[in-house]
Amino acid sequence: MPAYYCPECGGELRYEPTTKIYVCKACGRVYEIEELKTTKERFLKSVMESDEEKRKKRRREIVKWWLGEKSVEE
Ligand SMILES: [Zn+2]
Repeated sequence: MPAYYCPECGGELRYEPTTKIYVCKACGRVYEIEELKTTKERFLKSVMESDEEKRKKRRREIVKWWLGEKSVEE
C-alpha cells in the first residue's frame, strides 16, 4: 500500500479499512482514496511545473549572462 501524506499539512495519513478513508494523524482531516489520488497527481504536476519554471528562469539567467559577457553564437 502506498504511503500518503496530508495535502494540507504534510502529516502522515492512517488508513481506516472499515470506512475506507484516510485520516491525517497530524490535523485530523479525512480523505477518500480517489480524492487522494487526484490530489497526489495534481501535487506532482505542480512540482514538475515549478521545476520547469526554475529551469527556464535559470536558462534566462545564463542567457542574460552570456549576452552580457560574450556575443551570441546560436
Ligand atoms: Zn493534515
